[in-house]
Amino acid sequence: MAKKYDFDLIAIGAGSGGLSVAERAAAYGAKCAVVESGKMGGTCVNVGCVPKKVMWFGANLAHALNDARDYGFDVENKGFDWQHLVTKRESYIAGINNWYHNYLADSNIAEIQGHASFVDAHTIEVNGKKYTANHIAVSPGTRPCVPDIPGAEHGITSDGFFELQELPKQVAIIGSGYIAVELAGVLNALGTDVCMYLRKEHILRSFDAMLRETLLEEMLDSGIDIMPSTQIEEVIKEDNASLTLIDSRGRRNEGFDQVIWAIGRDPNIEGLKLEAAGVETDAQGYIPTDLFQKTNVDNIFALGDVTGRAPLTPVAIAAGRRLADRLYNHQKDRHLDYKLISTVVFSHPPIGTVGLTEKEAREQHGDAVKIYQTRFTAMYNSMTEHQVPTAMKLICVGAQEKVVGCHIIGPGCDEMLQGFAVAMRMGATKKDFDDTVAIHPTSSEELVTMR
Ligand SMILES: Cc1cc2nc3c(=O)[nH]c(=O)nc-3n(C[C@H](O)[C@H](O)[C@H](O)COP(=O)(O)OP(=O)(O)OC[C@H]3O[C@@H](n4cnc5c(N)ncnc54)[C@H](O)[C@@H]3O)c2cc1C
Repeated sequence: MAKKYDFDLIAIGAGSGGLSVAERAAAYGAKCAVVESGKMGGTCVNVGCVPKKVMWFGANLAHALNDARDYGFDVENKGFDWQHLVTKRESYIAGINNWYHNYLADSNIAEIQGHASFVDAHTIEVNGKKYTANHIAVSPGTRPCVPDIPGAEHGITSDGFFELQELPKQVAIIGSGYIAVELAGVLNALGTDVCMYLRKEHILRSFDAMLRETLLEEMLDSGIDIMPSTQIEEVIKEDNASLTLIDSRGRRNEGFDQVIWAIGRDPNIEGLKLEAAGVETDAQGYIPTDLFQKTNVDNIFALGDVTGRAPLTPVAIAAGRRLADRLYNHQKDRHLDYKLISTVVFSHPPIGTVGLTEKEAREQHGDAVKIYQTRFTAMYNSMTEHQVPTAMKLICVGAQEKVVGCHIIGPGCDEMLQGFAVAMRMGATKKDFDDTVAIHPTSSEELVTMR
């Protein structure tokens, strides 16, 4: 390419999307830069998947310690050192941040620190300096929302959760999505009294009903309070520093030492000056793209959470890599297919889900839908006082019984789903599942033996 620009590609945001497109493009010989205003790795590494999973492992251990006596161990849980875990977690994350700095340098990708804003469709400005590129990939991610109500500033978000220096005693979590249920599960296992406030009736509203009902039952059983159809209208900080929530029915919900807003996320487009490049956003500020991640401006692409589609790390990575394959490796039709994206909720117990829910399948395929489901107690729990439910559902369609949905909840389900997602992508039918010899004794064998 004629060296008309400083770079072939600039990625805005060193999160999952920006790093992936630059890394793959550089591997094809493109001259790349990544601009980052915060920490290397973005949300996933610093305030998302990684620290969340560390806390989830900690919470699992708390459950395992409770179960250990049932397996004959003479153990006593003499306490939990929150600060110890947080310090180790943050040092692990600092290692990942550093690894990225070195990796970018080794890969000949320029690292530009600061906040990027567009000057025109080929030019951005960072700290007063202009940089030009043939292609620009916008991947600035999202940030947690805080509601516009009196006293909202007394609460924290998931970002604040990862800054907590001590285990809170009594926490209100406002929200019903996966981040809300994950934080509730972690805090509850580690010893906090947790109350969740849901604006509507259900947790995990977009998930298959079997998953959310099974999880709700287990959360209530393990001591989490859940207040459905309750809108919080004000947060009051009392003289003793405790927090009181006033809800839509005028009730005072008192005695919290932390309130966590987990009510959704907004795209990070402030200060990007997208208008200077002519990039359009939708009413919520997300950047729509075509099949090939292209915005309404030919040389500008958007990746990851800012597109408003499937906000998950592997989705941002896959979209970024495919974009680089197409732009710099002549794979002209290469793009991410957003169908059949599997995902896990790291609740207690975890959920794995891929494909259509039963409701969606019935809406799309009517009577052609056949459901197989099972519910049981995993063998591990046959020894333990605390019984955790496992439930599984396969959604099949048509005479061939093509598997179009797989929904599982129970211990180990987080690690169970990936292989089944491969099978479904390949078009597996119920017969393919049935013809697969089971692995015994496991929970996953139920997925190939359902009647
Ligand atoms: C609590 C939590 C738990 C999660 N758990 C999971 C999980 O278990 N599994 C999963 O798959 N996903 C999970 N996610 C979602 C996942 O983190 C995101 O889908 C992923 O990080 C999106 O990548 P991205 O590249 O779009 O944006 P990000 O990773 O958010 O990266 C965007 C980067 O751009 C930077 N930036 C923004 N604006 C500018 C600018 N103008 N100039 C320069 N830099 C800028 C930001 O500082 C940020 O570093 C979780 C998210 C949260 C919040």
